[in-house]
Amino acid sequence: MGKRKFKAESKRLLDLMINSIYSQREVFLRELISNASDAIDKIYYRALTDENLTFNQSDYYIKIEADKEARTLTLLDTGIGMTQEELEKNLGTIAKSGSLNFKNENEVKDGHDIIGQFGVGFYAAFMVADVVTVTSKALGSDEAFKWESKGSDGYTIEPVDKESTGTVITLKLKENTEDENYDEFLEEYRLKEIVKKYSDFIRYPIKMDVTKSKKEEDGDEYVEYKEEETINSMVPIWKKNKNELSDEDYENFYREKRYGFDKPLKHIHLSVDGTIRYNAMLFIPESRPFDYYTQEYQKGLELYSNGVLIMEKCADLIPDHFSFVKGLVDSEDLSLNISREMLQHDRQLKLIAKNINKKIKSQLLSLQKDDREQYEKFYNAFGRQIKFGVYNEFGANKDVLKDLLLFYSSKEKKLVTLAEYVSRMPEDQKYIYYATGESIDRIDKLPQTELVADKGYEILYFTEEIDEFAIRMLASYEEKEFKSVSSNDLGLGDEEEKTEGDEKEHQELFDYMKEQLNGKIKQVRVSKRLKTHPVCLTADGEISIEMEKVINAMPD
Ligand code: ADP
Ligand code: MG
Repeated sequence: MGKRKFKAESKRLLDLMINSIYSQREVFLRELISNASDAIDKIYYRALTDENLTFNQSDYYIKIEADKEARTLTLLDTGIGMTQEELEKNLGTIAKSGSLNFKNENEVKDGHDIIGQFGVGFYAAFMVADVVTVTSKALGSDEAFKWESKGSDGYTIEPVDKESTGTVITLKLKENTEDENYDEFLEEYRLKEIVKKYSDFIRYPIKMDVTKSKKEEDGDEYVEYKEEETINSMVPIWKKNKNELSDEDYENFYREKRYGFDKPLKHIHLSVDGTIRYNAMLFIPESRPFDYYTQEYQKGLELYSNGVLIMEKCADLIPDHFSFVKGLVDSEDLSLNISREMLQHDRQLKLIAKNINKKIKSQLLSLQKDDREQYEKFYNAFGRQIKFGVYNEFGANKDVLKDLLLFYSSKEKKLVTLAEYVSRMPEDQKYIYYATGESIDRIDKLPQTELVADKGYEILYFTEEIDEFAIRMLASYEEKEFKSVSSNDLGLGDEEEKTEGDEKEHQELFDYMKEQLNGKIKQVRVSKRLKTHPVCLTADGEISIEMEKVINAMPD
């Protein structure tokens, strides 16, 4: 038997498409706007090679119009338009992308601007509309045609009158039902919101008649009137040159994007031209979001493909230890899946994420070096996350993060880095000493610190539960091991000579004390580490007293 061809069950396929590809139906607008933008881009590319054609920027735009009475939403563009044949081919065949063909045929060099590729986006209109009407006049043609469809039962095409080149798409919105309401897509503020969210950086103006009000000339009454406005910003700030932008521009952007109510402590503006090209705009916030250390907080960067928003919180772009970073990534090189909500390969994301991780680290280090006060501000807000980062994933990120750590120092009476500590160590000092306690005050009074301090050694104060866990994971810094001042063997040499004689002398007293403390301690010993205190506790094994407390408090 000869090979037979599959017949696409267009009707079923369309239903499937409409109901299962997109997670949010508001993206229909993103898809139609992207098509309109592609249509204008095509004229732009034509003009590059066609002498008879000039591309006059101001002639090209997209316009959105909502008619509440008729329940229609109309999208007009002054792009390249479609011939009868093209209407048939591109809108009559699911998964047929005229835009992909255009890119292939025209060898568009910087044609990454053209967004379309899958040939399905248009049908997203049927998520919100019962009837879709497309009136189009192709560039250089005198005829115009109307394509109309109610969705799954096919379409009609007939000639119409249309004066100017371009396309007008009219959606007759679905009737509201008990569960579903489509009225939102007729509301000015909502349409604006959706455009801002997904299509703010489409390079052509997206216009809309916006309701305004003004005072009557002779009277106090306000009257409403309509005025055409461009509702997208068009040029993404991250594609601008760094030299053109001031700190204020970055701050405004941070606020506009609602990354936070504070000011960003630092911005990182990247424009990478490597194996994968992308722009990134990252911000380190000044203060901690109120829900930062809770389950509710979601990390992630916004992901754009060619200026069109794909994902609001792409968690894979940012490691947990830098989950406080806000911002976005925009790349032309992402291979999107059909819904444009996900990527086909996470290899691209991994590459970008790796790079971003490196950049954030180096920027934080330079902040630490150049502006210690700001760095401490950052550390007060997010230092704990860095420490968790050292500890988590079995210390996989400890080397990335160790130099970002700060601890309070007994000597400096302020926060110091491990590098600073080690650089000051006297030659005979073997370990990096630390003491744990609830607060700096409490640690100051710890008897265990006396001997080490007496030696003139610096002690790091650990006041957060995570501190010691993180440092244990680190084990050492520049080959110097960490040592708790309450550990058995302080490594101080002579101070800890044998105390056996003394032990015997007091054996009876020690036995009595142990009996009275009834299993709470393992042993009572003579200590040489005490100076002004009569007694102190030391830990027996690897686990310090403070860690033991934390572990005991953990739920089973
Ligand atoms: P894609 O954009 O991925 O190609 P769509 O389903 O969104 O797929 O659109 C299918 C095709 O229809 C496009 O490739 C384009 O050729 C044509 N098209 C859609 N909208 C327009 C428009 N406004 N102007 C001109 N052509 C359009
Ligand atoms: Mg499209």
